[in-house]
Amino acid sequence: MSRVNDLQMTWDASRKSWIESANQPDCDFSLQNLPFGVFSDARDSARRVGVALGEVIVDLAALQAAGLLNLPQAASGEVFSQGSLNAFIALGRDAWRSVRVQLSVLFAHDTPALRDAPVLHERVLVRQDQATLHLPVEIPGYTDFYSSKEHATNVGSMFRDPANALLPNWSEMPIGYNGRASSVVVSGTPVRRPQGQLKLPDQARPVFGPCRKLDFELETGFIIGRGNALGEPVSCATAEDHIFGMVLLNDWSARDIQQWEYVPLGPFNAKTFATTISPWVVTLDALEPFRVAQPPQTPEPLAYLRHDAGPHAFNIVLELQMQVAGAAYAEVIARTNFRHLYWTMAQQLAHHTVSGCNTRVGDLMGSGTISGPTADSFGSLLELTWNGKTPLALAGGTRSFIEDGDTITLAGWCQGAGYRVGFGLCAGRVMPA
Ligand code: MN
Repeated sequence: MSRVNDLQMTWDASRKSWIESANQPDCDFSLQNLPFGVFSDARDSARRVGVALGEVIVDLAALQAAGLLNLPQAASGEVFSQGSLNAFIALGRDAWRSVRVQLSVLFAHDTPALRDAPVLHERVLVRQDQATLHLPVEIPGYTDFYSSKEHATNVGSMFRDPANALLPNWSEMPIGYNGRASSVVVSGTPVRRPQGQLKLPDQARPVFGPCRKLDFELETGFIIGRGNALGEPVSCATAEDHIFGMVLLNDWSARDIQQWEYVPLGPFNAKTFATTISPWVVTLDALEPFRVAQPPQTPEPLAYLRHDAGPHAFNIVLELQMQVAGAAYAEVIARTNFRHLYWTMAQQLAHHTVSGCNTRVGDLMGSGTISGPTADSFGSLLELTWNGKTPLALAGGTRSFIEDGDTITLAGWCQGAGYRVGFGLCAGRVMPA
């Protein structure tokens, strides 16, 4: 079989695993998914690279040591015994695909090599509920875009003019800003309410204190898999070759700090205190069967932002749950889809690098808040409560913005025929300032 045919085999919806939990129709981590992450457990506190499958993690370092996983390059033995995915990602797409194909075969229901070697299971398989998941990638740089037309229109309507909600540059380029990589944290990490300058409408000068309008932003992020050199832009046509995979991303935002500080250079302390990402990186290879057309773009973008005719979005269901402090359960307060995003990931990367800006393996690019067309599909409390004018009535209390002790959880998945390619959860609980 050629390599292309091998890859197509991994997308076959009928393939089942001998890891039975992976075959549940609503399991995020099917045999078709195989997302990469970094974990440790009580037995071995060393961080290492794993792949989520059903309710277990496949320990790739242990699998390689057992002779059941091979890398194409001879001198690349240590990439799985690492505290981040960067060394593995740096091997390049052939290596990612080779590992994907090997795992897809090894864990297929009719492959006995590991299935019938129970002695090895203890070394190679770790239950997810007994493992600690870590930040999967060492992130050299983090950029956040503003690519949802619905989100930009809502915000522009609220703070400027509903008749001219979008600024003239918005439909010409993926607007973005350079975020803060040092404060990107993995799902489950508590988030401390920031303090900063707040400008109250009835006072001439700002006061200093805890943020009063703490918000989430429902986003996805992509991880750079192949960097580009300084001065060498990435074309729109080849941009997807530079992407390793995607995560869920919550771009926590202090709306009151943001409103006072953001003119003229954009958000700063309103965004720098924390950004939460999900622990599993879903590869573009796993997302391929869920490719769909992006929204039509008017006006036609400048040449460097033009795609070929093919589809460049993905059908990813996104859901946001909020659990109010003290409430017995979380409630879904927004449902949307990645496919609504106006500017694609390829256009974002082409625009980011067109100046000659270089990117590096592990760089994180946020999509921007993903809002859909209906009021129940907005990706921030700012929009869902229209800047606090229409608070949400939730179990445990009403909310205009996030209060201490509240938990925000993002979920996302692609729905296949009888299986899912899912992202797991991206959660964070807010602690007092
Ligand atoms: Mn954002």
